Amino acid sequence: MRKTDMQDRKKLRYERCAVCKRETDVPVDLETSRRRFYIEGAGQLCPACYRELYG
Ligand SMILES: [Zn+2]
Repeated sequence: MRKTDMQDRKKLRYERCAVCKRETDVPVDLETSRRRFYIEGAGQLCPACYRELYG
């Protein structure tokens, strides 16, 4: 799991979709095994892109 930088600890940051770069509702420090729409090797996707690629 990636650690957040010291400067970024105050604000909660969210992953961006690996495809469309839009911000998702997945916190960056959430374990990848607990994420939805997370693709091993590709990264975090948003629901729309996930559906388009795998739906
Ligand atoms: Zn997307």
